[in-house]
Amino acid sequence: MRVGFIGECMAELKQVDGLLQEGFAGDTFNSAVYLKRTFPALESYFISAIGSDPLSKEMLEFTRGESINTRFLYAHPDKHIGLYKIYTDACGERSFTYWRNDSAAKGLMSLLNESDAASLTAMDMVLFSGISLAVLNREDLNKFWRLLGKLKDSGTQIGFDMNHRPALWKGRNDAKALYEKAFEVADIALPGLEDFNFLYGFESVEEIVSFLAPFSFKLLVIKNGSRAVTLVDAEGEVSEVGFTPVKNVVDTTSAGDAFNGVFLGAYLSGEKPESCVKKAAQCAGFVIQHPGAIVDKASYSDLVSSFSPSLA
Ligand code: ADP
Repeated sequence: MRVGFIGECMAELKQVDGLLQEGFAGDTFNSAVYLKRTFPALESYFISAIGSDPLSKEMLEFTRGESINTRFLYAHPDKHIGLYKIYTDACGERSFTYWRNDSAAKGLMSLLNESDAASLTAMDMVLFSGISLAVLNREDLNKFWRLLGKLKDSGTQIGFDMNHRPALWKGRNDAKALYEKAFEVADIALPGLEDFNFLYGFESVEEIVSFLAPFSFKLLVIKNGSRAVTLVDAEGEVSEVGFTPVKNVVDTTSAGDAFNGVFLGAYLSGEKPESCVKKAAQCAGFVIQHPGAIVDKASYSDLVSSFSPSLA
């Protein structure tokens, strides 16, 4: 099984014990990592663009170190990868400053030729997000929608999570118009209540379920932080899957990304949606008890090997 993750990975800088530490992260990239770490038998592809500079090459090495396939990770001759720095104030509150407005990932669609676009139809699933949409050059969006349409026609399932980042959009309406287009193409939608609250003012999962009822998903998966995940199947049947909330939360960055990667991996491995949610929630719950978007590999692999046969 092949799963493609479309988006942007950036270099991450943060102070740790007075030293500047470098890492790499980005929403769909994080999902690609967690899918591969949890389901090594699946092939995880990161579909994006980087530069040809040393920092981009480090990112490429990091990606390969996670056993992610880089066949569709293009190297732009002049552009660079985006960068962000995490600042933590005296109260432990984190803030982020980004340098990504001219990143290589924006130009993905002009680097992806017809023959590679045809090869992408071999994917069983591709995941993209609101961040992927916001990052792509505006003039390339039609080409992007055409690509998704072609993949869908060829049988590739399309996954979508809004992952709304207000700073990347001109305004709410701009984002909402594109998200609604994305919901039209998505087979599996994995939105969070928080995004719907910010964009549409919805306060309950029920409001999201009715709003999304006109779209035809194979599966709708609604995340709601530490509260139960809601599933809606293709017939409109609604169910809730609960899990134990984590009390000692260290860093919630990438909870939803880890959830998405593990959910899709489990789904493609043939697990029932309820079991996919349980596994995804367990992994996301683990990730938020550790610092950083991509947690230490060794401890994560202990988690994966600890899965009981009843969860597998
Ligand atoms: P996002 O990162 O997209 O905002 P959420 O905050 O909804 O996503 O979290 C995604 C998933 O991470 C949840 O569905 C849940 O499985 C897990 N999660 C988040 N917060 C907690 C928590 N406090 N305890 C346990 N699991 C959590």
